[in-house]
Amino acid sequence: MSAFTRAVVAATAASPVEKLITETRAGRALAERFVAGDTVEAGIEAARRLNAQRLLVSLDLLGEEVHDRAGAERAADEYVATLQAIASEGISANISIKLTQLGLAIEPDLAEAAVDRLARAAADAGTTVTIDMEGSAYTEATIRIYEKAQAQHGNLGIALQAALHRTPDDLERLLPLGGHIRLVKGAYVEPPSVALQTDREIVAAFVRLLTVLMQASDVRPAIATHDPTLIAVTLDLARKRREPFEFQMLYGVRPDEQRRLAMMGHDMRVYVPFGSAWYPYLTRRLAERPANLWFFLRSLLGRR
Ligand SMILES: Cc1cc2nc3c(=O)[nH]c(=O)nc-3n(C[C@H](O)[C@H](O)[C@H](O)COP(=O)(O)OP(=O)(O)OC[C@H]3O[C@@H](n4cnc5c(N)ncnc54)[C@H](O)[C@@H]3O)c2cc1C
Repeated sequence: MSAFTRAVVAATAASPVEKLITETRAGRALAERFVAGDTVEAGIEAARRLNAQRLLVSLDLLGEEVHDRAGAERAADEYVATLQAIASEGISANISIKLTQLGLAIEPDLAEAAVDRLARAAADAGTTVTIDMEGSAYTEATIRIYEKAQAQHGNLGIALQAALHRTPDDLERLLPLGGHIRLVKGAYVEPPSVALQTDREIVAAFVRLLTVLMQASDVRPAIATHDPTLIAVTLDLARKRREPFEFQMLYGVRPDEQRRLAMMGHDMRVYVPFGSAWYPYLTRRLAERPANLWFFLRSLLGRR
């Protein structure tokens, strides 16, 4: 993560900036580019539009770092409702979940029970659950909960972050479990003792992990990146792969590229966030692409 990216993360974490973004029309307009809407219905509607363009979907109820039991239970209820809507509306979608939204920061057992419940509800809906990877304080607990749930239900997947020093070992550890593994660069600010710091190093680590993942026959690789270099390397490795894999990108980011890969016949899944707790998600998207911050500042000043 570059010094500039860190500066954007620090600036957007300050509460006056949060107020400016969440309480102005320009801020909401910016959020609308990356978030489907506030409700489950809005998420389902966006998924339906994407499915019509041959794009698969992963629905993400926004929210993280929930520190009260009731909030964690509400999030699990809303995910169950989302899975029921996926089934009743005939949508091609799975769900992506964050364990701190389901209670991991309060009580690991609470998150574990929620994952168990959601894996069952997903099986009833004929779909799968992907566990997002959050900051490194939660990596080991997230992997442990995944291992247990995947061994029991078999319909889960997990994200692994190329930036973390531990990830090559985690990949070896998780390959025998099957399921799907989403490879990402990593969206959290981490110290050098925990993670690679430069984009160059992270891309090189991503390519090494990608090569192992695309050769693994029992897992479904989910290559989650907008980076043209990494997409090209994936397409190259895909020529030698007979088993399925998929690309994944975020809602609102490179939609033309999403359609291009789908038109080539590849499975392309769009990560569709919905819900009212969109601010932390948006700050990560701003840090990745500062051009979006300029767009926001210009519209705040009334210029296009
Ligand atoms: C589906 C999905 C799920 C994710 N889940 C997680 C998770 O669980 N945990 C986690 O830590 N992180 C997650 N991430 C975020 C990830 O870690 C990265 O922070 C994020 O994807 C940005 O990295 P990138 O590989 O897309 O490349 P970037 O470094 O953002 O971009 C590389 C290049 O891609 C091109 N590009 C990017 N955006 C655009 C654009 N808007 N228009 C045109 N070109 C563009 C540019 O050429 C740019 O230089 C997820 C990402 C995706 C796509």
